[in-house]
Amino acid sequence: MTLAGLSGNLWPIHLKPFPDELLSSWIVRLAHGHGLKLQTFSSLVFGRNKSIWNRDIDKLAPDWLIHKLAECTGTSIQGVMETTLKSYEGVLYEHHQPNGNTKWILPLGVYHRTHGNFGLQFCPHCLAEDTEPYYRKHWRLAFYTECEKHQVLMLDSCPNCSAALNFHRAEMGVRSLLRGSTIHCHSCSYDLRSSPILRSPCQDWRTFTACRSLLLSHQIGWGFIENTDFNYAQNLFEVLRHLCRLMGSDRRGGRLLSYTASQIGFDPNVINRTVKKSYELRDIAERHFLFYCAVWLLLDWPNRFVSACEKINLSSAHVIVDFAAPPYWFISVINDQLSQGQYSPTNQEFLAAAKYLSTREMKVSIASICRLLGYSKLKHRHISFSDITI
Ligand SMILES: [Zn+2]
Ligand SMILES: [Zn+2]
Repeated sequence: MTLAGLSGNLWPIHLKPFPDELLSSWIVRLAHGHGLKLQTFSSLVFGRNKSIWNRDIDKLAPDWLIHKLAECTGTSIQGVMETTLKSYEGVLYEHHQPNGNTKWILPLGVYHRTHGNFGLQFCPHCLAEDTEPYYRKHWRLAFYTECEKHQVLMLDSCPNCSAALNFHRAEMGVRSLLRGSTIHCHSCSYDLRSSPILRSPCQDWRTFTACRSLLLSHQIGWGFIENTDFNYAQNLFEVLRHLCRLMGSDRRGGRLLSYTASQIGFDPNVINRTVKKSYELRDIAERHFLFYCAVWLLLDWPNRFVSACEKINLSSAHVIVDFAAPPYWFISVINDQLSQGQYSPTNQEFLAAAKYLSTREMKVSIASICRLLGYSKLKHRHISFSDITI
């Protein structure tokens, strides 16, 4: 292939992205489709000075790259945008973070064109079934730990040498292998389609079903857990992520992990609670267990969750700790149905105290009730003042 062949408005081989294909996967297929190694192709069509492989190109695709690909492959701008992770904005999280970590997106840890983190997962069955193997966009999602099609656990590294996936580097040092090279480990050449199959140990069919339904949320933009619908999936995902963080922490809320794990048959020791890590940086087994536990807690909402918190003595303060902006559907239940810990009396105590003061013609106020009940202050007053002016 010559530069002349690639200099026109439409490249000779103008493959379109496969359904849900990652931008990087598509570019590699385009290069190999032209019989060129990725670096050669990239230099020819994008220019020697425009290195795109020293960054997370799926997350940080510049506009010029989007337009170039649209023009030279005859794909719409929207079609190209759909191959980038930015397309999850407004679905799974509010704002895409070009610099820094984005919620639910696995970080690649790019260093000198190499991906050091386990930021891309794969399903061996999906790769084996593809006529032309390719990498899916949703395989970069941290909660996507099980293939919904084949019902097997995803893998995030080479089972033979444990290297992180770098499919764009699998062709390096190999002269003849271009097309199809991406299904080999870049480090040891292991055929990833031959990877051993693992299945989730979760035996709770309701959690199983709810998780599988949620895996679709990244595509449809709304979510549901059993009979509870969420028009904006991010309202649900915010809570799921908070619960994952809470259960993985060494704070009191971490008790939810042991309780939930015992209910669904997971070993809670899989989760390392001593190291403070964001959900996206945890290993795949930890992410799988935490997500399943979070979903289990939200089933039969809110009865199961409230009951779990009561059994392990968690107050609302323990549950919402470090949750900056909890959605109303969650916080309203937490405030209404969970005790306020040692800082607040129950509604009944509160009203009884107010009545006591009132019948003795003493001033009824929050401060006087606190004094009477022996509380120095009320952190979360869950009763309106009109309720106590009886
Ligand atoms: Zn699969
Ligand atoms: Zn390997």
